[in-house]
Amino acid sequence: MADVIEEIPLSSNTYQCPNCGAALKYKPGTISLHCDYCGTDTLIDAKVVEDVQELDFEQYSRDFETLNTQTTKVIGCRKCGAESTFEENLKSTDCPYCGMPLIESDIHEERLIKPSYLLPFKLSDKDINTYLSAWFKGLWFAPNELKKRALCSDRLEGVYVPCWTYDAQTESDYRGERGINYTRTVGSGKNRRTVTETRWSYCSGHVSLFFDDVMVPASKMISSVVMNKIENWDTMNMVEADNRFLSGFITEKYVINMQEGYNTAKSIMESDIDYAIRQDIGGDKQRINSKKTVFSDIKFKLILLPVYISSYTYKDKLYHFFVNGRTGRVSGDRPYSVAKITLAIIAGLILLALFIYFVNQNS
Ligand SMILES: [Zn+2]
Ligand SMILES: [Zn+2]
Repeated sequence: MADVIEEIPLSSNTYQCPNCGAALKYKPGTISLHCDYCGTDTLIDAKVVEDVQELDFEQYSRDFETLNTQTTKVIGCRKCGAESTFEENLKSTDCPYCGMPLIESDIHEERLIKPSYLLPFKLSDKDINTYLSAWFKGLWFAPNELKKRALCSDRLEGVYVPCWTYDAQTESDYRGERGINYTRTVGSGKNRRTVTETRWSYCSGHVSLFFDDVMVPASKMISSVVMNKIENWDTMNMVEADNRFLSGFITEKYVINMQEGYNTAKSIMESDIDYAIRQDIGGDKQRINSKKTVFSDIKFKLILLPVYISSYTYKDKLYHFFVNGRTGRVSGDRPYSVAKITLAIIAGLILLALFIYFVNQNS
């Protein structure tokens, strides 16, 4: 029997089975680590999140190095450049984004902000295949070969995707114009008609808004568009980021840093503020001529979200599927079958020709 360990070390990224010593993996949908060799489950004494702690943005910007950061082993993909935090259990894995084998000599160390919370994987890869095949069945004009091939997707990888969330209190003073519509009759004789015009008046005011958890994906590989498509995230079920939940999965490194993420969050907040100002102006139309916003109490945190990624090449092009590891919601790029679309167009044209023929017959 291999070395038996009583305690699972928290500092290391490998967790060994207390029964047989094999490497343990987090078992989706549970709070246990699972041994594939002897079947033993080891409970993770995860801390339940009662009061979510947010980090202070100002303080972090000043003292980045000394605060909640850790030296992390990072492995990069030579082909697509995706970077993930290296985990001992994954020695022989392929890059989830392009399929290129990751090479251990490509590991380097970096100082990174520690994730505060994560949503553990809830669905297993078997569950995901069910969701993927349902999604494929619903695809119009997809090549048959694709449907067949995607169903036996052996290349399904669970990835924890880094995401920033930001809170802020905002106070905005604005100057603008309120437009009231009215109708007027113009022209004479045959050209007589009513037109709608707008009467504008100047106005100003104040809007205060509090933003809670504005989410900005920090991944280079998964765009925020895709992350929006596979929403929602049950963030109320987040747990403290414990390495044991990461065991057996890939954790992507954040490539959008905290400041860049904040700039994106700010532009999301700005458009909500504009909407609130327009509501405040009222009337039928609104113009915002100037606005001054003070952001205060800015808080942030780094969280990890569970996404299954499947990629494969079809006719020399790389396609990706992304599946929410909690809900099974799928989003993906997909090829179209030229043959199927051509047939559909021809069928449509024949119907149109027949229709025109009968209309002409009957008139
Ligand atoms: Zn075991
Ligand atoms: Zn890659």
